[in-house]
Amino acid sequence: MRVYLDNAATTPLDKEVFDAMAPFMLEHYGNPSSIHSHGREVRAAIEKARRTVATLLNTSPAEIFFTSGGTEADNMALVCTCHSLGIKRAITSKLEHHAVLHTMELLEKQGVEVLYLRHDERGNLDLDHLDELLAGQPQTLVSVMHANNEIGNLNDVEGIGRICKTHNAIFHSDTVQTMGHYKHDLQTLGANFIVGSAHKFHGPKGVGFLYCDAGVKIQPLIQGGAQERNMRGGTENVYGIIGLAKAMEIAYRDMEEHTRHIQGLKDRMISKLKEQMDDISFNGMSEFGDRSLYTVLNTSLPASDINEMLLFSMDINKVSVSGGSACSSGANTGSHVLRALGCDPERGSVRFSFSKYNTPEEIDFAAETLAKLYKNVPA
Ligand code: PLP
Repeated sequence: MRVYLDNAATTPLDKEVFDAMAPFMLEHYGNPSSIHSHGREVRAAIEKARRTVATLLNTSPAEIFFTSGGTEADNMALVCTCHSLGIKRAITSKLEHHAVLHTMELLEKQGVEVLYLRHDERGNLDLDHLDELLAGQPQTLVSVMHANNEIGNLNDVEGIGRICKTHNAIFHSDTVQTMGHYKHDLQTLGANFIVGSAHKFHGPKGVGFLYCDAGVKIQPLIQGGAQERNMRGGTENVYGIIGLAKAMEIAYRDMEEHTRHIQGLKDRMISKLKEQMDDISFNGMSEFGDRSLYTVLNTSLPASDINEMLLFSMDINKVSVSGGSACSSGANTGSHVLRALGCDPERGSVRFSFSKYNTPEEIDFAAETLAKLYKNVPA
């Protein structure tokens, strides 16, 4: 048995998605910008995909822009907001994905003041601090992720949206880890930008989208063509877009059943690990059902010589996982999120992330594999 428990990194493509994409690799090959019928049929398929995404998110197709993935969509929201609207102040947190953090660092070099929200040792953001930082200030860009990809913490995006609205701030939320796993209603969410990445919900890699509130007038990030209604130059990733929409349709169709199944796997993993390991705990809020992604469990493991090679050891024992401790020595580049939480750099960390395709047997196998690694360490 080889077990894949790295679904927060990427998920396997759903066969139904592949079947929807295949005709756009073979039969329907026209360039969607061409005015002849080969082009027009592909254009119509892209617009249908856009309507599907927009309908599922309860918004208008005019507010959905397809991109090469979550990273590009995050870059587009942040960079274009600052450049197009002359925003000079931004607020985020040290727990964001590098798609946001590194973009903020770039904006800082370009003269934007970037401030970081306080959080506690479990990664809970201090929303009173957000309120304080926004009060009486010029228009500010706020970027806070919906859920953290490493520790799984779910942030109160509706609450953040309300605070932003009170202070006339522009709110971007990196929703890559919740898209296709939770329902987003853009009429109530209160975000000006959210993003999606198809490969995180059993769609293809290299395609995503940006929702951009029609009231926020930004200029494109990528120049060179009139595609995406002049908002993103470049011939569209047609079969990627078709796959994204299909994957999202399936995700929404089966969401209840999959949520129940995956939450069951996560609960099972927690109890199996606790049964077999004395000194185990869980980073962030990942142990708490309603406060974290049901797809992610981040373990904090005993200080041991094996920690340096932990992911490699899991891999040779046929379990694919990712992770990284707060320590950045040796081969391990470490985790900026665990460092920001102040986690003990001596302790190891494995992130298990689950999908609809995982089984209870796989969970038992992975938990036993991890526990055995620590039991077999010579004293
Ligand atoms: N944001 C978060 C929270 C993520 O987890 C990821 C992917 O790991 C990204 C952004 C980047 O998405 P993509 O791989 O589509 O560029």
